[in-house]
Amino acid sequence: MPVEKFGVAALGELLIDFTPLGISPNGNPIFERNPGGGPANMACAAARLGAKTAFVGKVGADNFGRALRETLEKNGVDARWLRMSQECPTTLAFVHLDEKGDRSFSFYRHGGADTMIGWDDVDPAVLDCCQYFFCSSVLMAEGPSRETSFRMMETARERGVPVVFDPNLRFNLWSSPEEVRRVVLRALPLADIVKVSGEEAVFLTGEEKLEDAVGKLRREYRFQALLVTLGAEGCRAYAGDLKVAMPAHPVEAVDTTAAGDSFTGGFLAALLESGKTVSELTREEFWEIIRTANIIGGLTASRKGSISALPTRQEVEAAKKRSLSLE
Ligand code: ADP
Repeated sequence: MPVEKFGVAALGELLIDFTPLGISPNGNPIFERNPGGGPANMACAAARLGAKTAFVGKVGADNFGRALRETLEKNGVDARWLRMSQECPTTLAFVHLDEKGDRSFSFYRHGGADTMIGWDDVDPAVLDCCQYFFCSSVLMAEGPSRETSFRMMETARERGVPVVFDPNLRFNLWSSPEEVRRVVLRALPLADIVKVSGEEAVFLTGEEKLEDAVGKLRREYRFQALLVTLGAEGCRAYAGDLKVAMPAHPVEAVDTTAAGDSFTGGFLAALLESGKTVSELTREEFWEIIRTANIIGGLTASRKGSISALPTRQEVEAAKKRSLSLE
């Protein structure tokens, strides 16, 4: 086992998103093969900013799985813990656009490799060489991947590795909203840092107002940090006594895919770079880390695509300078 230390190890779904790309000369829809999966987006976002990241997951030993592995590696994410299954195919999702431009999805996920990741497929030794462990609820929706996710969260905590959790709720993957709530509420007590969207905070707590939802989450779980992303409205962040409310970085949003994932990746990369734990941060340092995450989310929303839309470190630095000169 390597002794090298990773900043973040992310467990999660890694799949192909086929997105529409026009009509062929024969009159049939054309689909583009895109890498997909929130935790992979998050890991790539953090890696682009210079964090050492590793990905834990399972894909098929097929053409799609090999392409996904290459994508991680090209983006600087260590893929040594990515299993290639001989039995299960890589999970696929097709995005359909209707005449009005509204999106719908067809998932080819049941029995897909990512959902089939069992305890035997993961090497818990990864937790001995990472500073943060990240996961989301997508692998908790079905298959052996649900209990594997919980066991990894529990093992991380036993070994003193802070758990970063993004519920990233995808209701169409679950049998019912009650089931989503039940499983995610089982995960929240195992998390140290949580990133939710405003809608997710409201749904999970059953509160009507965002303020009440945030209050309830902070009181009940006492996370090291709670990050609440609000799309074009920016974000809020809480850590101990520190509170930040920040308007969005002004961009023309064209595609918000991966904005939330890149926000979390940016937060973790900046936190790691500070060399401090959340509780050691000053008010100014916490604000600056949230500002970085907010800019990264905005830059990602200003471009089409997911991993291909993630900004580089230089782009983030340039945007930070520009925004300071405007303030
Ligand atoms: P999620 O994808 O998890 O729902 P959000 O849509 O809230 O996440 O986006 C995450 C972050 O990305 C926001 O907090 C904000 O910093 C940035 N962002 C998202 N949409 C926009 C936008 N339209 N304009 C500027 N920034 C945005």
